Amino acid sequence: MARIGIIGAGIAGLTAAYQLQQQGHMVRVWEARGVAGGAIRSERTSDGFLVEHGPNSLRATTPIVPRLLEDLGLERARLSAAPAATKRFIVRDGTLRPLPLSPPALLTTSLLSTRAKLRLLREPFVAAGAPTADETVASFVRRRLGPEVLAYAVDPFVAGIFAGDPHRLSLKHAFGRLYEMERTHGSLLRAALHSARTGATDDASTATDRRIFSLRDGLQMLPHALADALGEAIRYEAPVTALRQMPDGTWTVATETDATQVNALISTVPLHALGSIDWAPAVDTSPLQRVPYPPVRVVALGFRRADVAHPLDGFGMLVPSAEDQFQILGTLVSSTLFPGRAPAGHVLLTTFVGGMRHPTLGAASDAAVRKVVLNDLQALLGVQGAPVFERFIAWPRAIPQYTLNHGAAVRTLEQLEDVHPGLFFAGNYRDGISVGDAMASGEDAARRVDAHLAGADRAVAATGP
Ligand SMILES: Cc1cc2nc3c(=O)[nH]c(=O)nc-3n(C[C@H](O)[C@H](O)[C@H](O)COP(=O)(O)OP(=O)(O)OC[C@H]3O[C@@H](n4cnc5c(N)ncnc54)[C@H](O)[C@@H]3O)c2cc1C
Repeated sequence: MARIGIIGAGIAGLTAAYQLQQQGHMVRVWEARGVAGGAIRSERTSDGFLVEHGPNSLRATTPIVPRLLEDLGLERARLSAAPAATKRFIVRDGTLRPLPLSPPALLTTSLLSTRAKLRLLREPFVAAGAPTADETVASFVRRRLGPEVLAYAVDPFVAGIFAGDPHRLSLKHAFGRLYEMERTHGSLLRAALHSARTGATDDASTATDRRIFSLRDGLQMLPHALADALGEAIRYEAPVTALRQMPDGTWTVATETDATQVNALISTVPLHALGSIDWAPAVDTSPLQRVPYPPVRVVALGFRRADVAHPLDGFGMLVPSAEDQFQILGTLVSSTLFPGRAPAGHVLLTTFVGGMRHPTLGAASDAAVRKVVLNDLQALLGVQGAPVFERFIAWPRAIPQYTLNHGAAVRTLEQLEDVHPGLFFAGNYRDGISVGDAMASGEDAARRVDAHLAGADRAVAATGP
């Protein structure tokens, strides 16, 4: 049996470790904190609120998600989003407008002007960009769909997913599917019609269930179940401080208290944390350190239902940067989204602040953030009076941004894996930032480690004793 080291017990590291353990490998996971899950943290408070500190919902966009839920016996705990949650609001001119979700709704929506709707009809006739060029999400959307769709649909959507700025994100790396649609069909509309006609998808993930869901006691049930299955294999409060590759290809993994030798290693720590580990990479890793991770504040506020004027009949609202009289990025109506998130007669609103749009606010004090959030919630949702419950969560370095330089970061990871056989990288900085993407990345790394070790065994057998 080979001993495989995994640094980080976020969802990518846990998925990789679980897969390898299931295949009979001996694994050891080092986690800096006292608990598994990384960005996935749920908290049931004594006054009956269930707060998600990180991700609020998950999609089964890759087959590993339903497979692990089934394996771990979590299917019974799965909570589908309430039907009302299909409705999403975007702020325009200071009021909430429903996001149009069908072609007829697009014709009648007040979110876009008539001019913007006519501009959309020109999309199939817009020439495709140069095949090799990467461009920002903003440039692509303005070119294909016009400036209003950028300002009132894509900009808030990018803030909601990445806490990002469409003028900084790379289309190819952050929204690869849109990039491929233009490459293959010359137009997004033609690509969509092709999929509808043939049932073909440009993206393997669309074959799986794209509806959002959570778990009864919050998403943390998933990493906790993985951590239970891994048991003693995880070392908590054990930040890895140094790595050395030995002449025979094995690795020594050091913490402050001990050193362990492993035959293969998967790093799943955020790229900024990798920079604090003492090791001797054989290639320049500066592109990894240049990946921005902006700060985000999550503000969970509980109100008496009677103190919020809005019907709260939807998923939540997103605030475009063009609506600069507001400072929040958006708010989820957590208590509408999933049952059991607030006590009877109360609602739970989860608001996101900061990101690439307002990094200073992302790092501001609780009092400053509270003021901003309450002001915006009063104006947008008709919130009155003080919240009955408050929780302020800080993510100083929240989500990696796939900017135009991201290609250099991905190439650096590939070069490191080439020049250091037995070293692999997985995590949300690689092939997507969602929980499902991070799980798929962990699964992929596990597959590659298994193949590497099988290859090493064959080489030993071929040379013989
Ligand atoms: C506020 C917020 C909201 C989000 N909302 C959603 C959402 O609704 N839906 C969705 O799909 N995704 C969402 N995401 C994204 C998603 O949660 C993350 O991308 C994903 O969970 C990251 O998993 P990971 O394993 O790659 O990294 P992480 O979760 O960051 O795990 C890395 C682990 O490495 C550990 N570590 C760091 N340094 C060391 C060291 N030296 N030694 C040992 N361990 C170390 C860390 O403690 C951590 O546990 C959100 C993220 C945030 C922050």
